Amino acid sequence: LTSNDAIEEHRICVCVRARPLNKKELSVKDLDVITIPSKDVVMVHEPKQKVDLTRYLENQTFRFDYAFDRNSTNEMVYRFTAQPLVETIFERGMATCFAYGQTGSGKTHTMGGDFSGKNQDCSKGIYALSGQCLLYVFTEVGSASFLYLYMHSKVFDLLNRKAKLRVLEDGKQQVQVVGLQEREVKCTEDVLKLIEMGNSCRTSGQTSANAHSSRSHAVFQIILRRRGKMHGKFSLIDLAGNERGADTSSADRQTRLEGAEINKSLLALKECIRALGRNKPHTPFRASKLTQVLRDSFIGENSRTCMIATISPGMASCENTLNTLRYANRMKNV
Ligand code: ADP
Ligand code: MG
Repeated sequence: LTSNDAIEEHRICVCVRARPLNKKELSVKDLDVITIPSKDVVMVHEPKQKVDLTRYLENQTFRFDYAFDRNSTNEMVYRFTAQPLVETIFERGMATCFAYGQTGSGKTHTMGGDFSGKNQDCSKGIYALSGQCLLYVFTEVGSASFLYLYMHSKVFDLLNRKAKLRVLEDGKQQVQVVGLQEREVKCTEDVLKLIEMGNSCRTSGQTSANAHSSRSHAVFQIILRRRGKMHGKFSLIDLAGNERGADTSSADRQTRLEGAEINKSLLALKECIRALGRNKPHTPFRASKLTQVLRDSFIGENSRTCMIATISPGMASCENTLNTLRYANRMKNV
């Protein structure tokens, strides 16, 4: 491998997806400030004010591998993001797909899908579509696990009534999530059942004021084994909301702590992905539990990554949207 091949091997696909304005945004007459003029460009029309107080919109343009507009479906997003990674798994590799964005921007809709029936969009998300494709081709049985990480060291099993898990690293730097259950999956129905079970477990016992789910990272993994040995693994991650503001004085102590912890883990993630792209010898995966759990995917020789940045289209979300796009921008052609 020349270093160029290595970079090609670790190529990172970075995409953005804008959702439509929702009812709440429409009811307060929030304006849609996003345009997607071509399949890889996204523009944000940011409201600004001159010294003389005249208001204007400043256009900011970003280019990604793909930009999906409000009319895109989960199927479409899947086809250009996760589906190309499936091949890696069959070649004994590791693939990772992240959804990154502020709370309410569409991460869970994109990854977990929407089983509520209130959306016309395909109800299957990237978890299900990836599982379906993997199991369709792979003739042996696969298995799946589903966990979430909250704050620094709280790791819970979503397929086992939120049983507390421990993350251990052995002398050979192998990371293990002790106690994590893996369920056998033979067909799409099996995968769908696990996703529904995990998703409802993730949000159970939560009031909206105390919704851990938006402040935790959910990691859904599909593992293929051949004769008892791991053949390949697909990690699909619904990241915690990246919104700022949790560090302002108006937020309570717990919210501030959560915000700081999320920031730390998203920063660690960025550094690990950038290290991957540069084929750096040192991947700082120990900087957070999230990157530690995903260590395999960062150090594997045959690993590929995809980042889907989800954005809310409203003017009120402009600052968060720009932060999301800047973060995603830093992941490109690293
Ligand atoms: P997040 O997980 O980022 O907090 P959600 O996925 O829960 O956000 O999305 C918030 C709301 O917006 C949900 O009601 C969801 O159904 C809706 N939504 C998100 N993305 C889309 C989309 N692309 N098209 C239609 N509705 C969407
Ligand atoms: Mg969510």
